[in-house]
Amino acid sequence: MNNNPIRSKDRFLVFGAPAIEDAEIQEVMATMKTGWLGTGPKVMTFENDFKAYKGSQYATAVNSCTAALHLSILAASLKPGDEVITTPMTFCATVNAIVHAGATPVLADVDPVTMNIDPAQVEAKITSKTKAILPVHFAGRPCDMDALCEIARRHNLKLIEDCAHAIETEYKGRKAGTFGDFGCFSFYVTKNITTGEGGMILANRQEDADRLKILGLHGMSKDAWKRFGDSGYKHYEVVEVGFKYNMMDLQAAIGIHQMKRVAPYWKRREQIWQRYNEAFADLPIGIPAEPEAETIHGYHLYTILVDEAASGISRDAFLGAMTAENIGIGVHYQSLPGHPVYQKMFGWNSDDYPNAKRIGDQTVSLPISAKLTDADVEDVIAAVKKCLAMGKAKNPVLATAG
Ligand SMILES: *Cc1c(COP(=O)(O)O)cnc(C)c1O
Repeated sequence: MNNNPIRSKDRFLVFGAPAIEDAEIQEVMATMKTGWLGTGPKVMTFENDFKAYKGSQYATAVNSCTAALHLSILAASLKPGDEVITTPMTFCATVNAIVHAGATPVLADVDPVTMNIDPAQVEAKITSKTKAILPVHFAGRPCDMDALCEIARRHNLKLIEDCAHAIETEYKGRKAGTFGDFGCFSFYVTKNITTGEGGMILANRQEDADRLKILGLHGMSKDAWKRFGDSGYKHYEVVEVGFKYNMMDLQAAIGIHQMKRVAPYWKRREQIWQRYNEAFADLPIGIPAEPEAETIHGYHLYTILVDEAASGISRDAFLGAMTAENIGIGVHYQSLPGHPVYQKMFGWNSDDYPNAKRIGDQTVSLPISAKLTDADVEDVIAAVKKCLAMGKAKNPVLATAG
């Protein structure tokens, strides 16, 4: 067996590396020279660009998607004890935001194929305390929005979409983040476009948008950030006990230019996705389902399933072997009920969400960022094949079975 690593040891392929280009570097420098680093005109431009791209009424930029989720749940006016139904197959921030807003998270298991929250499971979890549904468009694949919107309407529930993976995502011609009361986006480093740290909230109603702006900046009356401008000092009033969640112009300076490359970056990730599909078709691993008809997949994550019984190598051994090949990988996600704090607080047990548990135990995310070169992509493919061959070599039954 060839033990040479696929990549040279001094060139580790970083998972989720962002593509940063000259335009945003220049814009950040220009912003620094203006001296207006905090929330100002660039943030307003970024909000307007994002709103136009989405065809949404209102957009509020914040400093993370976690902040976006927190503010959205608060603006949905949930009370302590109110229940929010979400998915176990998400980042911990989704559930943490529900808890920080004073509500109670309730999980509904995912569909084993789409890995998105299963509307039938949502329906089964509705009680008199349920006040909102918080779906996550996992990996950029849209949730079954017809079913979820219908459930929300019938039970009079708020709908808050976690679109951290889903800037480009569409469902039946409609863009992710515009179905519900609020749509929350992330511009974290590994996301489809980045501002370093950052987030955006879409809303349909003026009063919701106003509330988000106020809650996101200490609870000060609207447009308080303008008090340092040249239009004369304006007194502000504190009308709520708010948070410090505003985005900086320095961040928006990056976002304005990243925004212009949403389409070409998406196209590049789609190419990589298809190359992986073709390369892995005959391997003993699970690959993502095809996008559903009348949808656009955001291609944020390419997740394979490594089931030791079929692949001959455990998921965790595969993670180690890929790292040894200098390929950065990720796990999105270990099922949330597996984490001790939620077991303690809510008595959650992974076995109660069998689809999420199986995915969480087997999933591996391969690099799919727009920054990857064709050679990088071939390196990833070669490493996957080599790591699986190691499993096969250790397991003679699989070796003879092919
Ligand atoms: C990244 C992510 C978040 C949090 O985004 P931040 O901008 O890092 O706060 C929330 N939900 C999901 C599904 C994510 O992937």
